[in-house]
This record gives sequence, structure tokens and C-alpha cells, in this order.
Amino acid sequence: MILFIGTCLVAAEHQTPLHFFYGDFYIIASLVIDLGGVALIVGLSMFLYRRVARSDGRILRAWWVVALWHDLLQADTCTTCGRCNEVCPAMSAGKPLQPREVVLGIRAAMDGGANSPPLSATIDDDVVWSCTTCGACNEACPVGIDVFGKIVEMRRGRVELGNLPAIAQRLLELSAAEFNPFDRPHNDRLLWSTGLDLPIAREGETIPLLYWVGCAGSFDPDGQSVARHMIRILMHLGIDFRVLGERCTGDPARRMGEEGLFRELAAENIAQFGEHSVERILTHCPHCFNTFANEYPELGGHYQVEQHGMLRRPLMEGLYHWELGVARSCLASVGLPVR
Ligand code: SF4
Ligand code: SF4
Repeated sequence: MILFIGTCLVAAEHQTPLHFFYGDFYIIASLVIDLGGVALIVGLSMFLYRRVARSDGRILRAWWVVALWHDLLQADTCTTCGRCNEVCPAMSAGKPLQPREVVLGIRAAMDGGANSPPLSATIDDDVVWSCTTCGACNEACPVGIDVFGKIVEMRRGRVELGNLPAIAQRLLELSAAEFNPFDRPHNDRLLWSTGLDLPIAREGETIPLLYWVGCAGSFDPDGQSVARHMIRILMHLGIDFRVLGERCTGDPARRMGEEGLFRELAAENIAQFGEHSVERILTHCPHCFNTFANEYPELGGHYQVEQHGMLRRPLMEGLYHWELGVARSCLASVGLPVR
């Protein structure tokens, strides 16, 4: 359409038809492209009408929540290759989950029309709650189907109805009340740092680099040990950083299907980061890294995020030369605020 309108504008401007220069090919090509676009829109509309309208609305109900058009399209494009099954750790561990069968179950529900049973009846709760949300299936899928996204979507529907395992329910309650899923009081959050001269951010203070210890670093014994060593390394190298004594990022809540709680926690964290003008975050765990780097931007939180394993190379380069100064300059070269 743009090509065709552009052709007409140029023709009007120069008081001469464009094909005076380029021949009829230009106009014919623009018309063909326009017709192709119209055919694509009509084809997509017919597909969705056939899949959704023909099923008498049952598919929408079967999804527990709103079926998104790309979910319907994706289920139809599965090649049944089984690569998602091959890489699924839950399936390898003998859990009842087979990601390919989840996708094919959605397709079968679409194909069944008005008489097909609801999706909730064909995909068991055990299947939905067996997923570790590792994302390996998405990585392996040759046609880009968001397999685990559909599983999380089904969890959301179940959480809405209060249909979730007791352990998941407990985890969500703890995340909401104590801002961590480890069943520990929020006030104990900084106990791991006893004996360390921890640089805790003062109210309103600008933070040059935020070391995000996270729930695992704060409460898990192994995580605490790593966090304590990391603090000593950062201090030894003279890195200018602060910690906050934070709340959960909301990652476990989102994976469990409690989208509202995730957004609540994320909004509080983003507001707190704003008070401290946080731009750079060094995370303890890869889950927090993923959440800050890939999920907070959609909520307005944009940060430069690193996981502490990413410091290893500049650190090792410095230590290889047995020189603290070299290690510092290596860290400064990747933009870390070295004192
Ligand atoms: S995200 Fe879930 S379904 Fe996909 S590979 Fe991991 S455990 Fe299996
Ligand atoms: S990897 Fe993708 S295309 Fe292959 S079976 Fe799984 S969902 Fe279908």
C-alpha cells in the first residue's frame, strides 16, 4: 500500500506517470504487493474464525484465560519433531510432562470444535506443575514455539481459580508477606552479612553499582557463602558499590503463574531503584539477572545488568598477572566504578 501511494504521489508531484521512467513494472509490482498483504490479512482472519468461532467459544474457556492469537497460530505450526521432549529435564527425570504433547493437546482442542473437552480436562494439573520453566524447549524448537510460555499461561489460569499445589500456594504467600520464598522473616534479610562492613545504601543516596544479593544469597547457606566472598572481593578491589537489603524480584511468583504479585514486587523495586538513581546492577543469581535484564524493561525498569560470574574474566586476567592494579584496571575497562 505504501509503495502504491508513494508511486501516485511521485506521479502527481512531477506531473508525469512514474512508469515513464521505470516502465509498467513499478506499478504492477506495487499492486501485487498490496494484493499479497490483503490476502495475508484475509487468510489470518479466516484461520482465527475457523479455530475460535467454530469451537463455539469453548477454546477460550478451555484456556482458562484469554487465548492469544499467536498461541493458536503457534500450536498449529508444531512439526511434532520432539526436540522439546529430548531436552526437557522434567521429562528426563520421569515427571509426567512432555512438552510436545502439551502443544499437540492445544492443537487437538482447537481441532475438536464444539464437542472437544476443555483443555483443562486434557492437560493434567501434574503436567502443568512439573515444568521447571528452564526454557530449554523454547531454545530447541525449530519453529520458535513458546512452549513453556503456554505452560505458565495455564498456571495463571489455575492460580486464578485457586487450583495450585500446597507448596506453590505457600511459596506465593511467603513472597507476598516476607518478600522471599525461603520461609524466613524479611527482617532477617541481612543476617548473612554479620561481621562484614557492608556498604548499605542510605536513604536517597545515589548508587553507582548495586550488588543485588537476592533471596538465595540472603537465605540459602551456600548462597550466603558466595555472597560473603563476593563482598570481600568487591571491597578488596575497591569497587564502589552498595547493597539494599532488598525484596524478591518477583521471579518465582511469575514462574508460578502469579502475575499480579510479580508486577507488584517489580513496581516496588523499580520505584526504590529510582530513589537511588540505580543504573547498574550486579546480580548474585542468574534468575535475578534474567528478570532485571529481560523482564523489568517491559515495566519501565531499564538497567545495565551483570551477573557476578561475568566479572570472572577481567578478574582472572588481573590475577593471572598477580597484580591488584591490573585486576582493577581490567574491571575499570568493563566500566565498573573502581575507587
Ligand atoms: S521449560 Fe518446562 S517444558 Fe520446557 S524444557 Fe524446561 S521443564 Fe521442560
Ligand atoms: S520442538 Fe517445537 S516443533 Fe518440535 S515438537 Fe516441540 S513444539 Fe513441536
